[in-house]
Amino acid sequence: MTMKTFKLRIYPNATQQIQFERNFGMCRFVWNELLNMQTKRHENGGKYINEFGMNYLLKPLKQEYPWLKEADATSLQGVSHNLHLAFQKLFKKHAGYPKFKSKRFARPAYRSNAVNSNIVLVDDAHIRLPKVGVIRFRTGQLPDGRIKTATVVRSSMGKYYVLVASDVEIASWPKTDALVGIDMGIANLAITSDCKKYVTKRFDKILAKKKRYWEKRLARRRRQAEKEIAWDKHLKAVAPRQLSDFKNYMKAKVMVAKFSEKVANQRRDYLQKISTELVSRYDVIKLEDLKTKGLLRNHNLARAIANQAWRELRQMLAYKAAWYGKQVITVSTYKTSQRCSVCGYDDGKHELSVREWTCPQCHTHHDRDINAAKNILAA
Ligand SMILES: [Zn+2]
Repeated sequence: MTMKTFKLRIYPNATQQIQFERNFGMCRFVWNELLNMQTKRHENGGKYINEFGMNYLLKPLKQEYPWLKEADATSLQGVSHNLHLAFQKLFKKHAGYPKFKSKRFARPAYRSNAVNSNIVLVDDAHIRLPKVGVIRFRTGQLPDGRIKTATVVRSSMGKYYVLVASDVEIASWPKTDALVGIDMGIANLAITSDCKKYVTKRFDKILAKKKRYWEKRLARRRRQAEKEIAWDKHLKAVAPRQLSDFKNYMKAKVMVAKFSEKVANQRRDYLQKISTELVSRYDVIKLEDLKTKGLLRNHNLARAIANQAWRELRQMLAYKAAWYGKQVITVSTYKTSQRCSVCGYDDGKHELSVREWTCPQCHTHHDRDINAAKNILAA
């Protein structure tokens, strides 16, 4: 059994949208209340209250604020769960103190837990969620298995999604008996030891012009709006306008967000395609430990983007391999691009500009990246 998450685009009606928005707000409210309570307790020398204890506190909280009963009850328990995780991170990993959630910056989301079939797939286009009822959805992959949780989110573009996590039985993919070493690079995102190259696609560049167009407008409209707000205040207006009152400004803001989301979606689709192809083609995939690449910290944009893509690709490879009964191995190796993969001769450091070289010992002509991938496979 493996946990798998399915993303469904949902189309709530006006009432359901209001219910979602209220549930987002109520979860934020409960988070802030519980956090405040923990903080005050700590200041007064009290002990930390764990998840179970916080769940117990939800009852008096609902008595004090009866409107909280409108929320899906399991989503409020989800809040104590998340807050507990945040505190565990603070205690065990010395992460920062949990932060209060503001309406402006908090991600609009809440998670419902499956209990007593409160989350049901009605048919292949409708899902029933606690409190809000049946909602139409569209998806590329229909959820299967036993549903555990459903997380409702609103994207920056104002679209609603539900992420359904379920326990699924995944059949292994057929074994191919094939092994591969993969080198990750800048111009080519991935190079396999059997000579296949997956180029790095700069989706940000493809959309950059249109995005810049809206970014400029956003900046200009913001300046204009701020001027008008200052003027309102100067005139001591009863209700000075806020940035959100400026329609054109808000539109530009949505457009900028839209492009960022597009870039992220296109990159993810591309990486999904590559990782699925690799996992289906090979039984064992060997990757280089990124630390040995010595590229993790740098300020070069192309490298930063490659870095991000490598990390995402590795994650995808790891979980897909786990799903489909394949194996991903990380190898610590060094000098992968300067050692001859045929005879092992160390040719010394090659500058990044050297794309091909010939081994002086065995005279094999190498493509730099493919040779590196072969060394990773052999490691
Ligand atoms: Zn050689």
